[in-house]
Amino acid sequence: RLEKRYVGRFAPSPTGPLHLGSVVAALASWLDARAAKAQGWDSQWLVRIEDLDAQRCSPQAGEAILRQLQSLGLQADAPVQWQSCRTARYQHALQQLVASGQAYPCACTRKDIARAWQAKGVARARFETLIYPGTCRHAQGGVAPRVWRFAVPDCGPVQWHDRRLGDQVQDVARQVGDFALRRGDGMWSYQLGCVVDDGAQGVTHIVRGEDLVDNTPRQLLLQAALGLPPPTYLHVPLARDARGEKLSKGNHAPSVDGQDPVAVLHAAAQILELPLPKPASNAAPAAVLAQCVPLWAQRYPLR
Ligand code: GLU
Repeated sequence: RLEKRYVGRFAPSPTGPLHLGSVVAALASWLDARAAKAQGWDSQWLVRIEDLDAQRCSPQAGEAILRQLQSLGLQADAPVQWQSCRTARYQHALQQLVASGQAYPCACTRKDIARAWQAKGVARARFETLIYPGTCRHAQGGVAPRVWRFAVPDCGPVQWHDRRLGDQVQDVARQVGDFALRRGDGMWSYQLGCVVDDGAQGVTHIVRGEDLVDNTPRQLLLQAALGLPPPTYLHVPLARDARGEKLSKGNHAPSVDGQDPVAVLHAAAQILELPLPKPASNAAPAAVLAQCVPLWAQRYPLR
């Protein structure tokens, strides 16, 4: 019998140590891969360090994240990949898109973009979101590109299904516009790095925080443009502080470093709505994880 193949991943940006919000994403993706394995799938869980933004990321933070994952009992099934070592792949993908007319260099400044909208008679309030008006799609002034853009196909709204949130829709052409693949200073975008690597690593199931949900239609379009098969998606609840705001580095969520791993796993399982019984005082992380797998499978059935 042919085994069903599952490849999942946790893809943190190493801008600091893990906080509870990122542990939730790590735990959720790990549990989904393990639940698949328990159901007889040929299943792997990968870790990919998304360190393309050299200004905000550091190797030290990446190493700290890997140590934290280990202390939580979340061990990758294959060597960890660092995006900063994989830029040749992104270059190749960009060339492929340019060659097929699906990406182009753009020399517009913010001012140019504002002027272009003004010329089309669009009210200032509307172009302040800076959706790109497409000026350089067909004409480049021979100026050095400031950014390489994806030519979003005019295919109408992108529809897709999320395992938790249900049917989703976004009109990328109208709501997002021709988004960046690479900046003029050479920095690769999250969208391109993520799609190219998910494709290269054979990722079949993406499980990540709900804050990333509106990237999905862009990523689906890029996958199609690169001839990659679409994975399935599950966006999980976010950890929130007492005021209901999303925990993030931006609002100084505390690192889980130095906290009891079992307590951290319990807090994360609670956010994922898993009815985990109170831990025994001497519980090991591995035992808590094993308890979570069937609860996860029940709460978030595989697709
Ligand atoms: N690196 C992204 C982040 O930390 C997540 C990427 C993903 O899961 O698609 O927010």
